[in-house]
Amino acid sequence: MTATLLNGKQIAQEIRAEIAEQVRRRVQAGKSQPKLCAILVGDDPASQVYVRNKERACEKAGIAGTVDRLPATTTGTELLARIEQLNHDPTVHGILVQLPLPKSESSADPLDERRVLDAVSPLKDVDAFSPVNVGLLMQGRPRFLPCTPHGVVQLLHRCDRPVAGKHVVVIGRSDIVGKPIASMLSQRTNMANQGDAEGGRDVANATVTIAHSRTENLADVVRQADCVIAAVGIPKLVTADMIRPGATVVDVGINRVDDKLVGDVDFEGVKEVAGAITPVPGGVGPLTIAMLLHNTVKAAELADG
Ligand code: NDP
Repeated sequence: MTATLLNGKQIAQEIRAEIAEQVRRRVQAGKSQPKLCAILVGDDPASQVYVRNKERACEKAGIAGTVDRLPATTTGTELLARIEQLNHDPTVHGILVQLPLPKSESSADPLDERRVLDAVSPLKDVDAFSPVNVGLLMQGRPRFLPCTPHGVVQLLHRCDRPVAGKHVVVIGRSDIVGKPIASMLSQRTNMANQGDAEGGRDVANATVTIAHSRTENLADVVRQADCVIAAVGIPKLVTADMIRPGATVVDVGINRVDDKLVGDVDFEGVKEVAGAITPVPGGVGPLTIAMLLHNTVKAAELADG
């Protein structure tokens, strides 16, 4: 059997077109143009590419995107002061601090990632990293959904892969991917219905197992899954023998091997066993930016009052 390909690139384009239309309508109605401000500290080449891609995506959706490029010598106090300014700037709706922050040159006044992320106003926290927004999500009443997990939910929803009542195994328990995906899929309410998805496949109410580096017999655990979500960062960790025939396999991993991007799933082997599978690249990756745009428009709506 050859699995159905879950085409994240195409779904991301659909979502981005919906967002562009939403922005067009709001501006036409006399409301403010949504604005995202990204803060990029230092000159990490990968971060520069990510930020440029976000800037371009904003532009295409009619969202104003600006980038604050700060030198690697920026101190913790300086960065916190800049965030505070943006928190109080009514023309800025979303604030994004590009990670990772560079290793601090000032040991007396370092760039502390946690402190920096906590300083972003929860009402402008379009990455949904703030403890307030994480808490609201856990309680099933999210303000912003974290972008990559929301992308996974949108993908399952729009590809008609409901998970209600099914066993989902999430491999990985990071704060930005594994934990929020597990939380979203086990909620009572369908998080895919956050404004931009019509109707609703039930992409909630799953029975979720979270696996991690201390999980014993990972292959046995994964083999029980109707849906596997890999968010680990180890190329080809998930192999065909670990997959129940017909299972849905979502590969969040992005790993560079011999100058090529590969996921955490051995795509060639697993596609012969799975019922549906995401490719890498072109799977979950493109959805992350689409959901960032979604959150920026939502932040502008929140600012409307
Ligand atoms: P982290 O490194 O923060 O977390 C990795 C998780 O995998 C940890 O929970 C870790 O367990 C677990 N793990 C490590 N080794 C194993 C193992 N052998 N078996 C089972 N679990 C293991 O990574 P992220 O969550 O930030 O990212 C995961 C992947 O997703 C990466 O490839 C990253 O590049 C990609 N990514 C893709 C995005 C996209 O837009 N598509 C966005 C964000 C990330 P433990 O907690 O015990 O250490």
